[in-house]
Amino acid sequence: MMVVDILVKNVALWGTQGVRDVAIANGRFARIAEGLTSLSSTVTLDAEGRMAVSSFVEPHIHLDKALISERAPVNVSGTLTEAIEILWEIKRNYRVEEIADRASRVLVQALSNGILRLRTHVDVDPIGGVRPAEGLIRARDRFRDLMDIQIVAFPQEGIVKSPGTEALMRQVMKLGVDVVGGMPFNEASPQDSRRHIEIVFDIASEFDADIDMHVDETDDPMARTLEVLAELTIRNGWQGRVTAGHTCALACYPRDYADHVIGRLREANIHMIANPATNLMLQGRLDDYPKRRGVTQVKELLAAGVNVACGQDCVHDTFYPFGQNDPLEIAFLLCHASQMSQPAEILTVMDMVTGNGAKALRAPDHRVAVGGVADLVVLDARDAREAFATRAPRRWVIRKGRLIAETSLEARRYFAIPAAPNI
Ligand SMILES: [Zn+2]
Repeated sequence: MMVVDILVKNVALWGTQGVRDVAIANGRFARIAEGLTSLSSTVTLDAEGRMAVSSFVEPHIHLDKALISERAPVNVSGTLTEAIEILWEIKRNYRVEEIADRASRVLVQALSNGILRLRTHVDVDPIGGVRPAEGLIRARDRFRDLMDIQIVAFPQEGIVKSPGTEALMRQVMKLGVDVVGGMPFNEASPQDSRRHIEIVFDIASEFDADIDMHVDETDDPMARTLEVLAELTIRNGWQGRVTAGHTCALACYPRDYADHVIGRLREANIHMIANPATNLMLQGRLDDYPKRRGVTQVKELLAAGVNVACGQDCVHDTFYPFGQNDPLEIAFLLCHASQMSQPAEILTVMDMVTGNGAKALRAPDHRVAVGGVADLVVLDARDAREAFATRAPRRWVIRKGRLIAETSLEARRYFAIPAAPNI
């Protein structure tokens, strides 16, 4: 008789019909079938028809700034600009270990929410120097066996207008940062924005690295750096290796120009990340009514065949006062922000926090299949709609064949409330 480490019974695997039993041995999926028999398991978990995904993917977060609002000044205007400026004093006094500790607190939360792949940006500028990168590299090391973590060198203060940043970016890439970031709209002129993107491609080709930029995080309909990014992606042959986050200006473009840019994004095979929590909070702040929503054109990008994922972005920092790195919470927000309410659209949003994110992170092995690495997250929900509606507890989180987190169902008692009719 075959002996396995974990047997998950009666689980509805995302993207398939019906329920299966899933046997896990030596860190891998050993067998997947209906009603598995003739095996014994060390641990047996009965999902009772609940759904499971391979894992959630967090493609865009800022762990170096997470939880900083515990000691930061209040962002009075509520704008992106003020959020950046009130951080300067704190960044000057950054310590590596303190950054690693704050990041680790969020990573524990991420794991219990079923995130097993994550990409975090890290500020690189002359104010904080390489300390934020060193802090996140330390946090990545701590969680090495538990989560696949990629770090992006993020020049939030600009490159051309912030002398010294370009050298620091090369320095952190040598220290072990994985991906080259950018913030081209934060430059003095369109020419400098283009130069910023060119420098990012130079560094990416030197280190053979992927690119993930913050693009046009503004309501300004004249912001044009997304189109430049698409153009330079094609010119440099970096198709499929570039991700653009935020892209709020795209939501402000006239239809014909928006369609043109979306066509270019598809040609360049650029992955797009929507950040509904932060952008609903920050964008349109200076608008009178009607106020813009600030979230990029998710449905239009998807309809054009562009890969779109969504991410948390901020956790309790100067940009955004909430956030618990829960992809179900972000998915729930995105459904509202992008008006994705039909059954098929809700399924798509579940893809956005799982497989689409994995595609952006270029993790092709993100699937439940015999022989594959046994990552599995069982939700206390039957389907995506229910999972979003209740932000369903992650019943079990299995990483490389090990049970690493479990959430029991809450006990709830009712007093003086009539029992619901049994229907
Ligand atoms: Zn961001």
